[in-house]
Amino acid sequence: MDPKEEIKSRVDIAELISEYISLKPSGPASFKALCPFHGEKTPSFHVSTDKQIWHCFGCSEGGDCYSFLMKMEGMDFLEALRHLGKKVGVEVKRFDTSVDNERQRLLDLHDLAAKYYRKVLTDSASAEVVRSYVVSRGISAALAEQFGLGYAPDAWDQLTAFLVKRGFPTGEQERAGLVSRRKSGDGVYDRFRNRLMIPLCDQHGNVVGFTARILPATTPSNSAIRSEDEGPKYLNSPETAIYHKGRMLYGLHLAKQSIKREGKAIIVEGNLDVIASHKAGVEHVVGSSGTALTEDQLSLLKRFTNTILFCFDADAAGFKAAQRGIALARSGGFDVRAVVLPSDAGKDPDDAVQKNPDVWKAAVTKSVPIMQFLIERAVAGRDLANVDDKRAVGALLLPELAQISDVVEREHWIQSVADLLRMDTGALRLSLSFEPRSSARPSPVSTRTPTPTIQNLSPVTRNPKPLSATHFSRMEQAADQILGLFLQNHTQRATIVARLTPDLLSTESHRRLYNAMLTEYHASQSTNPAPANYFGALRNRLGTDVSMLELLPLLDRIGISADTFSDSDNPDAAATLVNNVLGVLSQADLDARRRALEADIRRAEAAGDHAEVDRLIRAYHELRS
Ligand SMILES: [Zn+2]
Repeated sequence: MDPKEEIKSRVDIAELISEYISLKPSGPASFKALCPFHGEKTPSFHVSTDKQIWHCFGCSEGGDCYSFLMKMEGMDFLEALRHLGKKVGVEVKRFDTSVDNERQRLLDLHDLAAKYYRKVLTDSASAEVVRSYVVSRGISAALAEQFGLGYAPDAWDQLTAFLVKRGFPTGEQERAGLVSRRKSGDGVYDRFRNRLMIPLCDQHGNVVGFTARILPATTPSNSAIRSEDEGPKYLNSPETAIYHKGRMLYGLHLAKQSIKREGKAIIVEGNLDVIASHKAGVEHVVGSSGTALTEDQLSLLKRFTNTILFCFDADAAGFKAAQRGIALARSGGFDVRAVVLPSDAGKDPDDAVQKNPDVWKAAVTKSVPIMQFLIERAVAGRDLANVDDKRAVGALLLPELAQISDVVEREHWIQSVADLLRMDTGALRLSLSFEPRSSARPSPVSTRTPTPTIQNLSPVTRNPKPLSATHFSRMEQAADQILGLFLQNHTQRATIVARLTPDLLSTESHRRLYNAMLTEYHASQSTNPAPANYFGALRNRLGTDVSMLELLPLLDRIGISADTFSDSDNPDAAATLVNNVLGVLSQADLDARRRALEADIRRAEAAGDHAEVDRLIRAYHELRS
């Protein structure tokens, strides 16, 4: 057994944690406490002695005995290892690199690279022009420090040479995405050159990648700065074992406390918008990097808040990019609002703050419900006395109304739109009943007036079951539950394996975790281990696979929750629960497939492809039966 595992097996996690905070029993093998890592009045910090892990449902921190000490005492891994080793009588001779893992190496590399770029920016003579550029963007020294801004020098091999000297071979640098291999295959060169370096951090503040901004062309006297024809405005790290664009929210590590305090998160497009917003004192803000929000990003945000404010500039180019994310957030039960910049404030929050920080602050406090924003957008520049304009506005707003799943809220907006269009609410409701409801249609606002031929379908098709406001979180909860039941009840595993396919789970992370659970299940099936052993083996499997490590917090969260709702000594109760949750998941899947078919049918109808319509309608009826 390697020292890391041996020490861990001897440490009692509850005993260790109770040296720091007071734990109260909350089950046969679990404790809870007020979380030491975020302010709270009711305990959401849980410790499982079976599983030897801890997890806080308030701030999502969690892990094993090592991560507790690292967080509590600010130790690094090796210090925590030695500290606990001493406690339980296991000698840690020297740092064994096999104990370490690739992920930690990649994080170390990024940490080092960020420090290097930072040092070049602050100290190097060659960075003078960049320093003035940063100042010209209104970024103070303190802000630059807080966000770790740096400068990649205009050279091909400075970073790579520095990293080699610090003990990181070029192959590792390449896997970290910091260098690229020469076309000849011989040697590597710095990926980022002559750019402003903006570190991308995970929610805990570890640097996991970079986005690098091209420097604006300057006067010929600045011969060191020549950048116009050197690639895209922003160059990003490639996807690596530690960096996944779709799971990252820029600035979350600096915003999460403030998001909790304010009860909302503002989504802006650019990284510089985030920095500018901090400058204006508005800190509950994260950057989406200009793409639509993904389910993984939303589920990350959901841990901190239920309210999202999307920011749109007056010309609304940002709106198009955000549409899918808005639809997803609305169907996910988020309260979605819009922050609208006044037309003279500039094109984005960064511009607005440059001109006047108070304009941004005011825009944020004056956020409006997303529906109100959509209505104002739809009406802008149209004459509602003109019947064509009126029809166009209706066509824009009907799909939006159809997406509102909360009945009271829906009634409110139906009334508003009816008043606006001088229409009877009954007539509006009738048109609405032909509107499909979809969890995430790609471009809701640009959707044409729905074709009335949908009436030809059966009554059930015309009234698909609405997605409830909490659909998204309910699906995630169901995914948590079924995986928790799998962990907790070895008697139920065979049933779950037979009936649960990964695609029934709502997030990519849940699907990946389930695949790992299946692998471990098949590997250990002959021994049929008890829940605690299965959990330990699975946790070890994830902990030693660099591509799986990021799933550990999810596993811990699920494992700890399972302690609270499932009793492994009561197989009958577990069987009932398994059956119920599987029912919820398959029904949701069926609904989703039905909605997809409905959309296909409408598309085929619009295209006049009658044979395809017939085929799809047959498939639809098969699905229903
Ligand atoms: Zn906490």
